[in-house]
Amino acid sequence: MVARLAEAGVRDSRVLDAIGAIPRHELVPEALASQAYQNAALPIGEGQTISAPGVVAVMSQALELTGGETVLEVGTGSAYQAAILSRLAARVVSIERVPRLAAQARKTLDRLGIHNVVVYLGDGTRGRASDGPYDAIVVTAGGPTVPEPLLHQLADGGRLVGPFGRRDEQRLVRVRRDGDRLHTEALGRVRFVDLIGAHGWGR
Ligand code: SAM
Repeated sequence: MVARLAEAGVRDSRVLDAIGAIPRHELVPEALASQAYQNAALPIGEGQTISAPGVVAVMSQALELTGGETVLEVGTGSAYQAAILSRLAARVVSIERVPRLAAQARKTLDRLGIHNVVVYLGDGTRGRASDGPYDAIVVTAGGPTVPEPLLHQLADGGRLVGPFGRRDEQRLVRVRRDGDRLHTEALGRVRFVDLIGAHGWGR
C-alpha cells in the first residue's frame, strides 16, 4: 500500500512511514479486516467511515508537519487519521460527536500504545480553544464552509486542511494563516460524510 501511495504522488517519507506503521486492519470492523489495505473508505458503524489511506496520506502531507506541532482533528471516527498524526506531530487533540465512536477510538489508541492523542466528545466545528492555538487543523468530515471558530484557533503560519462545499462532493482545501491573512489553495475533489454541527450541516 505504501508503495502504491508513493507512486500516486505522496512524497513525504514521514507520512509514508506512518502509514506503514499503523495496522489499519485493527481499526476496521473484524468482518472487513481482509479489505483493510485496499485504498478505500470502509464503514465503521453509526453511518460513518474510516477514510481511505490515500486520502489520509494526502491530507497528512498537506499539513506539512515536522514533529513538534499541536494538531486539532475534527472527526475522530475510527482513530486512523489520529494514529497517523500521532507519529507526525507532538500532540493531537481529536474531537468526535458520536459517543460510541469516541469511546471506541480511545480504546483503539490505548491498545496501539498511542499516548499523545486525546479524544474529546463534542461538536468539533466549535474547535477547542482551551487547547489551542493549533499549528495544524484537519477536518475529516465534509462541511458547507470552513468553520469560523477553527480559523480563529489556527496559529500564525498554521495550516487547516479539510473538505468543504456541497453535501455530495467537496473541494479539499488548505488554508494557511499569515498574520491576519488567510490563503486558500484547492487540493482536489473528494467525497466525505457530513460534518454535522453548529458550523456544519444540520442533522
Ligand atoms: N478521521 C476519521 C478516521 O480516520 O477514521 C474519519 C472518520 S469519518 C470520515 C468522519 C467523522 O466525523 C465521523 O466519525 C463523524 O461522526 C465525525 N463528525 C461529523 N461531524 C462532527 C463534528 N461536528 N464534530 C466532531 N466529529 C464530527
